[in-house]
Amino acid sequence: MKKVKTTVIGSYPVQINNMELMKKYFNQTEISWEKYIKKAVEDMVNAGIDLISDGQTRDPFVNIFFRKLKGCRIRDRAEVIDKIEHVEPITVEDQKYVKTLLPPGKELIGLLTGPYTLTKTCVDLFYNDEKQLAFDFADALRKEAKILQKHVHMIGIDEPFFSISIPEYARELIVKIIKGLSCPTRLHVCGDVSNIVPKLLEIPVDVLSHEFKASPHLFNVFKDYSFKQHICLGSVRSDDTRVETAEEIKTHIEKGIETFNGRISQISPDCGLRLLPRNVAFQKLKNLVKAKEAITIW
Ligand SMILES: [Zn+2]
Repeated sequence: MKKVKTTVIGSYPVQINNMELMKKYFNQTEISWEKYIKKAVEDMVNAGIDLISDGQTRDPFVNIFFRKLKGCRIRDRAEVIDKIEHVEPITVEDQKYVKTLLPPGKELIGLLTGPYTLTKTCVDLFYNDEKQLAFDFADALRKEAKILQKHVHMIGIDEPFFSISIPEYARELIVKIIKGLSCPTRLHVCGDVSNIVPKLLEIPVDVLSHEFKASPHLFNVFKDYSFKQHICLGSVRSDDTRVETAEEIKTHIEKGIETFNGRISQISPDCGLRLLPRNVAFQKLKNLVKAKEAITIW
């Protein structure tokens, strides 16, 4: 079986502190983001995670993009006030910095917040056409992905809103971003996706990532389909401070192996761990790694 990797999803609970934010807004001083990224990456490395991200410490996962895309502004909420355009790299500098922190053998995943989720989390004052807005976000993300692929081992697209209301053009939207990329891709959709599995399986990413720990009935749903994608198996909860034991996680992974046979390529938390205390998040990652290493058939 090819090497199965432990990895992370979304945001990690290293928050910029309020004093620094106040200084930035009142004194217009620049914040040194590096120390926040460094804390998140160090936790992932120390826990033994194989495929690491920047932890999205800079901003909430949607604002990272709204802040740098032309056509958006952030007030109480993000607003779209003009045509969306990619005018400068958004995540690339952070990825370059993460790379300098990685010990040999570790890999890097670059995270993009999906176009549909961006569309659903802003106030549209310009397009008045949800589909057009979503496709313009996708076009901007395609440009970001083209640059990003040179610096990472994999690109992950996070579309939590697909589980709430998946549009009929979901496949087309994601294909617009990933078409022609030279690195592998992952689509993460959290929440209960049991009603949209056929639609998700139409999307030609390399890896599909879902919350199998919070929604264990997904094992039975996926069992009914044959598909090409690999699975990133959500194996610890992101909404519960209880730290799952390595033994419990191992049993969960074994259930995944039984269901998907050779199709599991990644083991991860269910979603981003940002809402958990940092020590809880770290312990969850540690036990995840321990559990994965205890599986002898790998
Ligand atoms: Zn998620």
